[in-house]
Amino acid sequence: MPVPDAGAKATGSHGENPPAGAAWQVLLPLPLAGAYDYTAPDGLAIAVGDHVLVPLGRRELPGVVWGPGRGDVAPEKLRPIQHRFAVPPMADAMRRFVDWVADYVMSPPGAVLRMALSVPAALDPPEPIRALRLSDAPPPPDLTWTAARRRVVQLLEGSPPRPAGEIARDAGCSASVVHGLERHGVLVAAPLPRDAVPPPPDLSRPRAILEPAQEDAAARLRAPVDAGGFTVTLLDGVTGSGKTEVDFEAVAAALAAGRQVLVLLPEIALSAQWLGRFAERFGVRPVEWHSDLTSRTRRAVWRAVALGDARVVVGARSALFLPFPELGLIVVDEEHEQAFKQEDGVLYHARDMAVVRARLADIPVVLVSATPSLETVINVSRGRYDRVALPERHGGARLPEAMAIDLRATPPPRGRFLAPPLVDAIADGLAAGDQTLLFLNRRGYAPLTLCRACGHRFNCPQCSAWLVDHRLARRLVCHHCGFTMRPPPQCPNCGAEDSLVPCGPGVERIEEEVATLFPEARRAIMSSDQLHGPAAAAEMVRRIGDHEVDIVIGTQLIAKGHHFPDMTLVGVVDADLGLAGGDLRAGERTHQLLTQVAGRAGRGDRPGRVLIQTHGPEHPAIAALLANDRDRFLAVEADARHQRALPPFGRLVAII
Ligand code: ADP
Ligand code: ZN
Repeated sequence: MPVPDAGAKATGSHGENPPAGAAWQVLLPLPLAGAYDYTAPDGLAIAVGDHVLVPLGRRELPGVVWGPGRGDVAPEKLRPIQHRFAVPPMADAMRRFVDWVADYVMSPPGAVLRMALSVPAALDPPEPIRALRLSDAPPPPDLTWTAARRRVVQLLEGSPPRPAGEIARDAGCSASVVHGLERHGVLVAAPLPRDAVPPPPDLSRPRAILEPAQEDAAARLRAPVDAGGFTVTLLDGVTGSGKTEVDFEAVAAALAAGRQVLVLLPEIALSAQWLGRFAERFGVRPVEWHSDLTSRTRRAVWRAVALGDARVVVGARSALFLPFPELGLIVVDEEHEQAFKQEDGVLYHARDMAVVRARLADIPVVLVSATPSLETVINVSRGRYDRVALPERHGGARLPEAMAIDLRATPPPRGRFLAPPLVDAIADGLAAGDQTLLFLNRRGYAPLTLCRACGHRFNCPQCSAWLVDHRLARRLVCHHCGFTMRPPPQCPNCGAEDSLVPCGPGVERIEEEVATLFPEARRAIMSSDQLHGPAAAAEMVRRIGDHEVDIVIGTQLIAKGHHFPDMTLVGVVDADLGLAGGDLRAGERTHQLLTQVAGRAGRGDRPGRVLIQTHGPEHPAIAALLANDRDRFLAVEADARHQRALPPFGRLVAII
């Protein structure tokens, strides 16, 4: 992709500014064609990058001073800037980033600015929280000491000030008890700053002893951080090679140089293990940024980033638009992931925009993957990106051996989905006390319901996709539009009763089959239907990690990043699933996903095995997996795309 010129690195723009009273362009976080001119009232010193409040029609909106006035409107017609917010100005590199993204994705700059000003409330300092503490004066002698009052006093003894609501909750009393004590002077007000400053990462903690190859890789990631300047490095390491440990060394180098660090993860809700390891390495949790945060937390995080208090931010793609004043390194973990692409509103790919942001800020960026995207591999081969490889697993663990189960030769029994060789392997694993992962990237029980009497297929009435049988929830669900219904007792077409049959498997159906085959095994389904929210997902990952489960049946939720030392067998129930359909990256995605899934096997001290059920072991994506020959697959894929001028060799236009 095209990369902008870095140009001179400018910081504040004070000095080259028009005099007071002159006009300024202010960009507003709205999809307008450009910035509007405003005047600076006397006494308000304005500089480029300042966050200001301006009138627009009958509203008042926050915006950012984008440059000197354009002068296309007569000065006396301009309205004045009303207020300058007391936050650091938007860095020059960030403003150029907003302009660059807007231009590249063909969106109005204000629409991009809206992503950078996603928490307008953060521009104002937070109001202190009213909290209470014990008074230093002795309580009035005539005070009646009810049990509830005693509990409040006990709670606050030696405690920092706390908000009244919290005191009532923790002392198990009503708010009036707390207020009564305040009235009697037993408790006194003590304002609390609303946002605690995130504790800084501790660089002095002992780090993992890196293996020589890891140490080499770490040195090569640290060098551009220490040298400063724009570079892109691909950290290309097989699953289990210790990429995270190596990343941390680059992060530590940037922190030691007094810079902020941004780490982009594709799915922060699934990153509990990553966050835990960060905490182990640096003594604190990183500051998180994603869509599940409360508005209060978003506000606190935005400010902490802008003020430079947040040193490391780990976030989903939108974290790219946070106002770092001292950004020194961007790490994009699992750079090949589709989740980095935003497909609504402003359309952008966060991995590519991370490279742009790094270029404009003149800092290094590290892309991390065991299965890098074709785009990135091509950029490496053209010499635009550096590559640092970790071809071996950590601690002498071997990469798992992958074998195909050709379903044409050894099909499962009728009505079942696990072929005999896979069932045997699961039995062996259970006998050996090992864990198994059965991977099927399909939620629910069955992807299609048919009437056995008339052949009627259950389609979504809104969008005509097949309705997926979710037996645990007793619903038929459209995975496209979210429509749901109870399964009817009769066929709506022919009226036959009890005639509905499920076709094909989802994870729930595989779990049922496993329960029949191995009733004594402890089983768990891991899909988004079973796990509501990050906490539930984290708890499931912990249970699996602690071997409280023998057989995991999971969708792609389980495929990536996790480290389960006792997992020795991975069974792919249907490797062909992702290959159908017209997506130009279907083969690439299937290869990536199956490589990730396979990478869950044999990460501990026992070797792993991967059994792949397929009707087409000769498909290049699957053949490459079996031969453990990623590079050949990428070469074939690159060639095919090159011939048809598909990305990254050409561009596609969607007409919707
Ligand atoms: P990857 O991200 O490449 O799949 P990880 O970073 O998750 O690999 O490492 C796999 C496992 O090996 C993790 O549990 C990690 O803590 C451990 N590990 C990697 N390198 C080291 C090391 N040098 N010392 C100790 N443990 C390590
Ligand atoms: Zn639908």
